[in-house]
Amino acid sequence: MSDDKIVTRFAPSPTGFMHIGNLRTALYSWLLARANGGRFIVRIEDTDQVRLVEGAVEVILQTLKQTGLDYDEGPEVGGEHGPYVQSERKEIYKKYAEELVAKGAAYYCFCTPERLQQLHEADSLGGYDRHCRNLLADEVAARLAAGEPYVIRQKIPLEGVTSYQDEVFGEISMENKEMQDQILLKADGYPTYNFAHVVDDYLMGVTHVVRGSEYLTSTPKYVLLYDAFGWPRPHYVHLPLLMGRGEDGSISKLSKRHGAVSFQDLLQAGYLPEAIVNYIALLGWCPKDSNQEFFTLPELCQAFSLDGVSKSPSVFDYGKLNWFNSEYIKQLPPAEFAGRVMPQLKAKCPADGLNLPKLAQLLHTRVNTLGEAAEMVDFVAERLPLELANYTNKKNKTTPELCLTILRQVAPRLAACADWQNDTLFSLLKDYAAESGNKAGAVMWAVRLAVARQAVTPGGATELMEVFGQAESLARIELAISELANHQ
Ligand code: GLU
Repeated sequence: MSDDKIVTRFAPSPTGFMHIGNLRTALYSWLLARANGGRFIVRIEDTDQVRLVEGAVEVILQTLKQTGLDYDEGPEVGGEHGPYVQSERKEIYKKYAEELVAKGAAYYCFCTPERLQQLHEADSLGGYDRHCRNLLADEVAARLAAGEPYVIRQKIPLEGVTSYQDEVFGEISMENKEMQDQILLKADGYPTYNFAHVVDDYLMGVTHVVRGSEYLTSTPKYVLLYDAFGWPRPHYVHLPLLMGRGEDGSISKLSKRHGAVSFQDLLQAGYLPEAIVNYIALLGWCPKDSNQEFFTLPELCQAFSLDGVSKSPSVFDYGKLNWFNSEYIKQLPPAEFAGRVMPQLKAKCPADGLNLPKLAQLLHTRVNTLGEAAEMVDFVAERLPLELANYTNKKNKTTPELCLTILRQVAPRLAACADWQNDTLFSLLKDYAAESGNKAGAVMWAVRLAVARQAVTPGGATELMEVFGQAESLARIELAISELANHQ
């Protein structure tokens, strides 16, 4: 390592969308570097060419941009340890694999795929039987010279125990005889993940490996590689599992059946990147000595430290995310909220004459997600069917008959109104209530129901009339009058 600085990395495999578990790994790795004035590297691990998904690298880099996780070295920005895409580093790994062979910590294996398949069929749990482990050097040289296909395997000691210290989970130990002689270099010349990431982490000066706990038990094999090379081991920070809660309350690994699990799907559903980041920061970490829940990225950098990372599995709670998101939405300046929600409102309510900025204003404090905004405006987009029962309201003491009377009486006043905005309309209805001897609540109820055609609405009667505009409001009131008259 060139200096004492903390160097972390995020090393995704481009095999699909950006799962929120991956995003949490990226965030914690970024935070560990940023909180300590260190460096953060992004490296694309694409040596498993079969599992590559087109466009996945773009999604990963785009997600890092959208969430504000900037990196000091990596694709697009470059750096002194590049390239940062493993398939472009293919030539680097062979020499290190050969070095391990020379050191007695790895060996050439010439077993054919057919032989390995037979082994697998005979005992699918048995793994590789170390068939080539003790070939004589002469034989190996001859077979290599003859151009026989080969892989290079790690020579795991047959006895003893390998241990390492994980920063979150403590000491992890594994009996060497439990470990497989895993492949380091494949027949196609590509390294496996198991080998490539060790070589790259060393060459890139990574001091802290932050990743999901699925790697906790394979890490003994990786530390054996460091030891064989004589390289200092990095610090390991394995993160707790991310779980989801099923409808029946059962807990299992977070997956699609629990809801949206990719960053892109969450954005699509109307969650704000800031809210997602804030929420996932708390999925496995909490600040020391405080109950603070709301954090900007700079605040997270201030507060983050490894001793706040928990080893117990964290359960992704969509209700909690909704709450975070609604709080973030409320904090948006009104114009910004309107800007973000407007495309959805326009798509849903294309009719002329609607006051969509006013509608956005009404929705601002009432939604958990931007997606909910679109779901709440069906009643604006169309005239919903009559629900007569709504006109009977206990609290406001209304009946369909009373509502019909009110609507008949206010309609001409509304038609004559020359200043169609909330305050004027509000005074108009209040004055009418006082003059007619009706309760203001009853008048508001009748008008709001006639205009919205549903009982629960964002905003009151006069606000909604402002959204609809004069022509549509009056048309809806006339419609309600004729419907109520028909039901007398
Ligand atoms: N490429 C591995 C993955 O996406 C990274 C694991 C690691 O960070 O070492 O799971």
